[in-house]
Amino acid sequence: MRLENKVALISGGARGMGEVEAKLFAKEGAKVIIGDMLEDKGRKVEAQINEAGGECVFVVLDVSDEDAWQRAVNEAVSRFGKLDILVNNAGIYRAHIVEETTAAEWDQVMNINAKGVFLGTKAAIPEMRKAGGGSIVNISSISGMAGQSYVSAVYNASKGAVRIFTKSTAIQYATEGIRANSIHPGPIDTPMTAFRKDDPAAIAESVARVPIGRTGQPEDVAYGVLYLASDESSFVTGSELVIDGGFLAQ
Ligand code: NAD
Repeated sequence: MRLENKVALISGGARGMGEVEAKLFAKEGAKVIIGDMLEDKGRKVEAQINEAGGECVFVVLDVSDEDAWQRAVNEAVSRFGKLDILVNNAGIYRAHIVEETTAAEWDQVMNINAKGVFLGTKAAIPEMRKAGGGSIVNISSISGMAGQSYVSAVYNASKGAVRIFTKSTAIQYATEGIRANSIHPGPIDTPMTAFRKDDPAAIAESVARVPIGRTGQPEDVAYGVLYLASDESSFVTGSELVIDGGFLAQ
């Protein structure tokens, strides 16, 4: 198994990509802590993983709350003894152009998408140091690498922040065996993008942007997260893994 004896904390693990990552990690031998604000959904994922023979604990986590991160990391260590892997996956999406974006919306998106990644990283590093190293996988986006007219500028800005914050983390902690890498998904079918589900024109438009000719599935991303989380990527840090069906290659 690819994550045997590893302990992994995944933010936003109650649904979407985080849920699929949590289930894949458990299948690959990791003990998993999922942190999310959606308690009912999170508890369901926790139960599904445990019923399937894995080991999983759900914790209530608002990634923009520093104390909540500390509680989540403490829970990981008290339940499973250590922390090896952090997946900063939680995020929110907005689609307002610059003039339609309020200052409050800017703060909300930056607090969750960017500050949340910083706070999670800050809380996890001391435990990773104690464990002799670790792997941090930050879920950015293709929107962190290029602007899009249909995506809110603050979403772009928050994901760009994640991209460069990851490199800074990678360099600051490389000698301690703590790696940090970012993942840049293209359009993936999850509850976040379900707003286009009943709109064939929106789906067609989305697919037309992707050279491979389809939108991605959470599993497409989860296998990339698994690689970067595992020791298979032990020489990989500060890097960017684009999983976008060719979107950015154009
Ligand atoms: P999703 O909305 O289905 O899941 C996101 C999860 O994050 C939810 O469970 C939600 O409750 C949780 N979350 C939101 N705010 C939170 C907070 N403050 N504290 C804790 N948890 C919180 O979305 P998804 O598509 O699975 O997205 C996962 C990540 O991938 C996000 O960072 C997103 O920006 C990024 N992403 C998504 C796509 C896509 O097309 N779906 C593309 C590129 C990047």
